[in-house]
Amino acid sequence: MEILLRNVLDTAKYDHALAEKQAMLIKRISMRYRIRLPYEVRQLFCKRCKRLIIPGVTSRVRIGRSSIRAIRITCLHCNHIYRKILDRKKGEDAEMAE
Ligand SMILES: [Zn+2]
Repeated sequence: MEILLRNVLDTAKYDHALAEKQAMLIKRISMRYRIRLPYEVRQLFCKRCKRLIIPGVTSRVRIGRSSIRAIRITCLHCNHIYRKILDRKKGEDAEMAE
């Protein structure tokens, strides 16, 4: 699974369509075997359009300028913006839709 994912990220650099197909495959496998995808994998999918978002490829990452350390991730498929708060205990999922 992890090898498959690394493969996807590599592929995404030169062939995004193929990477997306591979990502869908990962999702299907995880559903079939009821594997809970690790956080790093889950955050690669947009929660609105369910497509693969790769920083620098299909998503834009911006560092927030307020006192709270946060980053904003924009999905370039549907323009959905996530805000992720950094500096959280245990790195729990702290994303909010804007
Ligand atoms: Zn999206």
